[in-house]
Amino acid sequence: MRVAFLGLGIMGRPMAANLAKAGHEVTVWNRSPGKDVEGARTAATPAEAAQGAEVVWMCVSDTQAVENVLFGENGVENSLTPGMTIVDSSTIAPSATVKFAERVRDRGVHYVDAPITGSKVAAEGGTLIFMIGGEEAAIEGLKPLFAAMGKKICRMGDTGKGHAAKLAMNLQIALIYEGFAEGLTLAAKLGVDAADLISLINATMVRSGVVEYKAPFVLKRDFTPNFPLRLMHKDIRLALDAAKEARVKLPGLETVEEIYDLAMEEGQQDLDYAATLTLLEKWAGVEVKSAT
Ligand code: NAP
Repeated sequence: MRVAFLGLGIMGRPMAANLAKAGHEVTVWNRSPGKDVEGARTAATPAEAAQGAEVVWMCVSDTQAVENVLFGENGVENSLTPGMTIVDSSTIAPSATVKFAERVRDRGVHYVDAPITGSKVAAEGGTLIFMIGGEEAAIEGLKPLFAAMGKKICRMGDTGKGHAAKLAMNLQIALIYEGFAEGLTLAAKLGVDAADLISLINATMVRSGVVEYKAPFVLKRDFTPNFPLRLMHKDIRLALDAAKEARVKLPGLETVEEIYDLAMEEGQQDLDYAATLTLLEKWAGVEVKSAT
């Protein structure tokens, strides 16, 4: 298929590379020049990339970035053609997605939100999981592309529901990791070895995918970004905004947001969100570590 891929960050670049490897005709664009993808053509603007494409796929930072790419100067809007499908794998506000979809529908363009789970490793390995909002017929036509980048797709409903599900997922990751980090900090202060506590967690009902994934990084104190703290901070805020719009109260997440606000103030935005542990350590005057 002819695909324009817009946004070559941690996730977008390997996703575009997997599309090209699978034999699709890929044109890529990135805001900052100098990023390209083997086997793909590089365009100078989103409009140029989208020219003649059957599918325009985006993976950029946030709601504002998606709006710029679609409707800004030299945006995709200039190259819309009837029958085209726009897919958004960024994590953004569900309400904005609904508005963007309405704006292109009059031009005969389908809009599918398809945010992703699985971080850099899954993007590189083509094992992402997509949670999707959009019409079934449009999603059906995208299946070869999903198959090139991921291992599973889950349709959550019509346009916007993919992003709604993504926010519901990420708020849980933030809360689960916070619970893990608080448990580790208290245990360290009380003299329990971190590796012993993690073995215990993994043998009991306290275990979780989040802990399994993050524990080895925490033990190595490797806070290089798999999922940057600034993006989790953005997702927490998106979830709180969506909750406000829907008149839902999320008191646990409101507290966790304060920790991320402080971490951002401390300059941790480009570290992994696992680095929020270091704030708890600082307040407790202890370092989480293992003798083994
Ligand atoms: P990233 O490495 O920070 O890349 C962000 C991309 O967005 C870059 O290509 C950046 O271009 C572009 N961008 C930012 N602002 C822009 C603007 N105003 N106009 C146009 N382009 C703009 O982020 P990522 O990790 O790939 O994440 C991308 C999306 O996937 C985010 O919504 C994130 O929440 C979501 N996500 C990430 C992960 C993960 O583990 N990393 C997992 C699931 C979902 P420049 O190169 O010019 O800065």
